[in-house]
Amino acid sequence: MTRNLITPAQNTWCPGCGNFAIQHTLKDILAGLEKEGRSLDDVVMVTGIGCHAKIADYLNINSVYTLHGRTIPVATGIKLANPKLTVICCAGDGDAYAEGLDHLIFAAKRNIDLTMIVHNNRVYGLTTGQYTPTSPLGFKGKSTPAGTTEYPFNPLELMLASGATYIARGYTRKMPQLAQLIRQGIAHKGFAFIDVLQICASFFNMTEYYQSRVYDLDGHDTADFEKACAKSREWDYNLDAPIALGVFFERALPTFDDRYPSRDMSVGERTRRIRDLFEAAR
Ligand code: SF4
Repeated sequence: MTRNLITPAQNTWCPGCGNFAIQHTLKDILAGLEKEGRSLDDVVMVTGIGCHAKIADYLNINSVYTLHGRTIPVATGIKLANPKLTVICCAGDGDAYAEGLDHLIFAAKRNIDLTMIVHNNRVYGLTTGQYTPTSPLGFKGKSTPAGTTEYPFNPLELMLASGATYIARGYTRKMPQLAQLIRQGIAHKGFAFIDVLQICASFFNMTEYYQSRVYDLDGHDTADFEKACAKSREWDYNLDAPIALGVFFERALPTFDDRYPSRDMSVGERTRRIRDLFEAAR
């Protein structure tokens, strides 16, 4: 019997919120996994704190609603304790790029086998509209009534520099593509990072802005690190630039849990084993 993936919990997201698209995309992906014979008992979702995190209440799978910015440490513990689990993190842009930034960088560096979905609405919605690390220059919110004086940072470029082995950007108004990117991220062995552009209908509605700028990355060589860096910088300081959607970079490298059992070896044996694993992946 297939499970009903939407819980009876009352949904309190604002009408028009981008979180709905991510929830329903994930629901369809999970239903697809179940149809393929995968047990959803082997899937765990970890969320942070923020509007995005309510997805744990609304999707009927194993989930942990953790602390602000702490999705990755909890997800890492789950994955190491039981490597057969599929672990999906959902985090907001404040959660992932401010409070949890160090964890994000180290998960990429270690190539931990997780899928990280960032609900990037470029504002703290739950606390009614403060600026986050990805709010654009001049953003006016509760904590910056005269507009921010900072440029946003570029999460994709940061993930490339940190060693993430799957890096993609999706958009909530392009759900079939978003589904493909998340599905591919879940299938990827290693740290899969998907930055999802979504709007906050109440505090930062960027629909018109995104609609006029997004385009699909067709013919892009996802194995080419330099090209991925150049593409990631296309939309950065220049707010009028086009915004590429799709997979920017993907490569196969040994994951953290591939290397983890070697802790019982001598230092020399362990170093040789890890080098061999990396050599074999080149
Ligand atoms: Fe969505 Fe913004 Fe409402 Fe939060 S405040 S539920 S992010 S529209």
